[in-house]
Amino acid sequence: MKTEPKILTEEKPFCTLCAERGELLYARLSDSLFGAPGQWNLFKCPRSNCGLIWLNPAPLPAELHKVYAHYYTHDATAESLGRKAVRLLYNGLSKLIQWPIGLAQARRRMEYLYLDDKFSGRLLDIGCGDGAYLRFMAARGWKAEGIDLDEQALKRARDLYRLNVSQGTLEEKDYTDSSFDAVTLRHVIEHLPDPLGTLRHCLRILRPGGTLVVVTPNSESLGHGITHEYWRGLEVPRHLNIFSLTALRRCARELGFTEPMQSSFTTATGADFILDESLALQARSQPGNLQGIEKKTLHFKRTLRAVLLQYREHLSLKRDPSIGEEAVLILQKR
Ligand SMILES: [Zn+2]
Repeated sequence: MKTEPKILTEEKPFCTLCAERGELLYARLSDSLFGAPGQWNLFKCPRSNCGLIWLNPAPLPAELHKVYAHYYTHDATAESLGRKAVRLLYNGLSKLIQWPIGLAQARRRMEYLYLDDKFSGRLLDIGCGDGAYLRFMAARGWKAEGIDLDEQALKRARDLYRLNVSQGTLEEKDYTDSSFDAVTLRHVIEHLPDPLGTLRHCLRILRPGGTLVVVTPNSESLGHGITHEYWRGLEVPRHLNIFSLTALRRCARELGFTEPMQSSFTTATGADFILDESLALQARSQPGNLQGIEKKTLHFKRTLRAVLLQYREHLSLKRDPSIGEEAVLILQKR
């Protein structure tokens, strides 16, 4: 196996949201998904009104490209026939269960990233990948644009779907103030070195009355409680900050938002995927595997367990609203 270049790091002893000194949560984790080198620690903010988890030490900003060296945001490989047949069968049968318990409706809202009750307008999706969400929203009348860092994914978005996408970070773009009706970040904020700074930037380019939507793994989820250091949402060393519902609400407060201009909740809509991958990581727990989680073989018992856990999680949300696998923050700009 070829040796990867070492990633240079800096100490991050303090919480980026409230400046409290962190406490060690997990030590010496390795990247078993995409094989970035190094062993990584996660620290947690001890404040009960924050609870952010973060990577410490973290890669220096100039070194961040190294943690993405083998990382792909899209998968163009074909699914095996067996897996495809089971997936179609599962999707069909699961609707029969998901409608009566409200999970199908919750999934539908997630497909829109919670913009289903808004009039269409100009939308920016940050971290758009190959543009599946942009396509979905463009078909519903939105003037949808996207940015991402993964040039291969952007090429697919441009060549296959003729989408308006460009490479770079939000900070590198010169979007005018108050020029978007909605800005969305799905599984992006956890990758950002300065999450609050980027959210401020998002609010600057939103028009008054516009909507900012953030979806991110929830560190207080049922899945994290079951799989601990193997939970898929940790993803060292690419996830620099891992939020809970409380930490997201803290972000909203830091940005000057209170009810009713902010809403936040957790959801189990993506729990089958996150739980399945977390259980796979727990089962394999072999460091340094460059294959990532292989998708071609079917692990029926594990996948069934993930699906049943998803239903349990969804049904438990009424009693304990903070345990969904993903946390959602929605801000309406004044
Ligand atoms: Zn904190």
